Amino acid sequence: MRRPCLKVPKRLASRAIALLKALGLYERGLRVKREGESVLIPLARWPEESELRELEEGLGRFELSEEDFEPRGERPSLLALLSRSIPSELLDLAPRAFDIVGDIAIVELRPELWPYRRQVGSAIMALHRRVRLVLAKGGPVSGAFRLRPLTPIAGSGPTETAHREHGCVFWLDVARTYFSPRLSYEHARVASQVREGELVIDMFAGVGPFSILMAKRTGLIIVYAIDINPVAIHYLARNVRANKVMGSVVPVLSDAKEVVQRGLSGLADRVVMNLPERAAEFLESACEALRPEGGILHFYTFAGAPEPEHEAVEALRMGVERAGRTIRRVLLARKVRAVAPFKWQVVVDAEVA
Ligand code: SAM
Repeated sequence: MRRPCLKVPKRLASRAIALLKALGLYERGLRVKREGESVLIPLARWPEESELRELEEGLGRFELSEEDFEPRGERPSLLALLSRSIPSELLDLAPRAFDIVGDIAIVELRPELWPYRRQVGSAIMALHRRVRLVLAKGGPVSGAFRLRPLTPIAGSGPTETAHREHGCVFWLDVARTYFSPRLSYEHARVASQVREGELVIDMFAGVGPFSILMAKRTGLIIVYAIDINPVAIHYLARNVRANKVMGSVVPVLSDAKEVVQRGLSGLADRVVMNLPERAAEFLESACEALRPEGGILHFYTFAGAPEPEHEAVEALRMGVERAGRTIRRVLLARKVRAVAPFKWQVVVDAEVA
C-alpha cells in the first residue's frame, strides 16, 4: 500500500516512532521496513508545517517520500473481537485504546461496560499475547503521588512490571507509582538536549524515565532525581542499578522544595518539572535551583482553549518573574496530549536568565 514515509537512521527509529505517535502521524496498520542503515516508517498522512518543525527539532535528520508498505498481520481490532462478546448497542461505548506498561494493560471502561469487564479484559489479552494482567481505571489520577485506583479485570499476577523504553528498563508498580507510556516522546526529547558536564535536577522524577535516559544518553552528568513517594524512589534506585547509571543519578526521597533549599541552590544547568497540576507552585524553587547566570527549565502544566501554549508560557513567565528572574528565550511550547475536552498537558522549554 502506497503511503507517505519518514526515513531516519536506525538509531533514531524508536524516538521517531514515539514522536509520530504523539503527533498522531504514525500509521499503525502498516509494517515499518529496513533499508540498509535506515528505517522507513509509514505515515497516516503528510505532516503539516508545525509538525514538520517538531520533527526537525526532535530528530534533526530525516527524509520524506512515498513508499509501498506491507499491511501488518491480520490482527483483528479490539472492536471486532468485542462484537462477538458484548451486546451490539454497547459497541459504540467500547474502549478504542488502552495503555500497555510492561506486561500489564490499563484500560478506561465506561460504567455501562462494567458488567462486561471480563470480556473486555480477555479481548485485550487475546490481542496482545504478552499482556498477563488487565486493569481498569477506577478514577482520575489524584493525590500527592499522582496515582489512580486500578481494578483487575482479566489475567493475574502482581502490579509490578518491567517496562522498556528507548533502550532502558523501568521496574515499577503501576498501582503504587506514576508512569505513563504516553510521555515516551517527552522523555526522549528532553534527554536529547542534555550536554556533558551538566548538573540536572528532576524535581518530580517518579521511577526515573527522564533522569535515567538523560544519564544513559549523555554519560558525564549528575542528575538529582527527587520524588516524595517512597515507592517511586525504591524503584528509581532499582532502575539506576538496572540501567547502570550509578555514578550519574542520585535518587532523593523528599519534597523537591526542601531539597533545593537544603543544598541545591544555584547549582543547576537544567530543571525538569513534570508535575503538571502543581508545577507553577514550584517555580520559585526551580529558579532558585538554577545557576545565577541562568539555565533551562522544562515546565509541564495544564492549559485550555483557545491558546493552550500561550497560556502555559504566560503561567511560566509570571512564576519566573515572581521569583525575581526573567525568561531570556522560549525555546519551545507544545501540546503533549489532550487530557479532557479543550484541555491539554503542555510543555514549555525556556532559557531563564
Ligand atoms: N517524571 C515522572 C514521569 O515522567 O513518569 C513522574 C511524573 S508524575 C506526574 C509526578 C511525580 O511527582 C510523582 O511521582 C509524585 O510522587 C511526585 N511528587 C509530587 N509532589 C512532589 C513534591 N512536592 N516533591 C517531589 N516529588 C513530588
